[in-house]
Amino acid sequence: MTTKRREACPNLEANLEACNCSYEPCGRKGLCCQCVAYHRRAGQLPACFFTEAAEQTYDRSFDRFIQTWS
Ligand code: SF4
Repeated sequence: MTTKRREACPNLEANLEACNCSYEPCGRKGLCCQCVAYHRRAGQLPACFFTEAAEQTYDRSFDRFIQTWS
């Protein structure tokens, strides 16, 4: 974990412990405000809105969210 990422968010380590996202290369992991903004712009929801199985499909669409929880 870089110092720059730690400085970007005082909650980074706690956020990472709670993060269920399996997409390892993502630089937004643990930076929840950036994660939410990114997926909102794309018309999606972050990984933590999905079950483990649904999250691993990387389909973060509203349709998938509704399908998952219906
Ligand atoms: S949910 Fe999306 S933006 Fe957030 S950490 Fe995972 S891949 Fe990155």
